[in-house]
Amino acid sequence: MYPFTKIRFAFLIFFLIILSSDILKAAEPAVADKVEENPLKVIVIDPGHGGKDSGARGPGGTFEKDLTLAISLKLAEKLRDSIEAEVLLTRNTDEYITLKERTVFANFHKADIFVSVHINAARRKKAHGVEVYFLNFEASDDDARKAAAFENNVINLDEAAAEVAPKDDIESILWDLTQSEAHSESSKLAEAIYLKLFKAAGGENRGVKQAPFIVLTGATMPAVLIEAGFISNPKEEKRLITEKVQAKIANAIKTGVLDFSGKMNGRAIDNKAKVARNREAK
Ligand SMILES: [Zn+2]
Repeated sequence: MYPFTKIRFAFLIFFLIILSSDILKAAEPAVADKVEENPLKVIVIDPGHGGKDSGARGPGGTFEKDLTLAISLKLAEKLRDSIEAEVLLTRNTDEYITLKERTVFANFHKADIFVSVHINAARRKKAHGVEVYFLNFEASDDDARKAAAFENNVINLDEAAAEVAPKDDIESILWDLTQSEAHSESSKLAEAIYLKLFKAAGGENRGVKQAPFIVLTGATMPAVLIEAGFISNPKEEKRLITEKVQAKIANAIKTGVLDFSGKMNGRAIDNKAKVARNREAK
């Protein structure tokens, strides 16, 4: 009786091993949709304005520079919690940095993406909602042109303003930039962030836009500028100063970045597969 029980027991163990290995296999994703690695190793967040440059000012006295810093600090924390990347900020305190220094910082740290955080302002008090921009040498509409003109205006504060290239040179630099691969990725990054941000913040569906923002011109990586609401709208100003709304905005931007990272990885895997197929065909 005893040996028979032993054999049965051995069979049972053997069966369990086979079964569990099958379960493990099923849990493993197929090779094609397996996320190989996170393509974003370094993320640079740029809180707009700072120091003597306050940015826009709300009717209640809120400065854009304070909101951009608060949202950016929350965004950095959320990204560090959810992605294995080095997350750096162009400023951590209320300090003045030039537009040029912001992208020089990103280029120096070999950032994979550059995200500049701003808050919008408009003459029309009721204007509300979010916008996400990527660089183009022509603005996509009149509001976009005004937003870029406002954000570029800080250049007057820069001691380095004299170094800025003449208009023709800026246009030719912009033309070169818009032909690059980083630029086509910028539009995808803008799209990914906008979708999440619009869903979270609501308001007018203002969409992804293009405009000649000087702060984006120096970036050699995918770069976007976010206008996360209107400080000029009294209702929106009151919402934007709350921790809850700031956290909501930061969370939406983070989700957009993660979405972009996943899709970027997917494109890399597709490209690899294409190269392999081409090699086989030869
Ligand atoms: Zn701004």
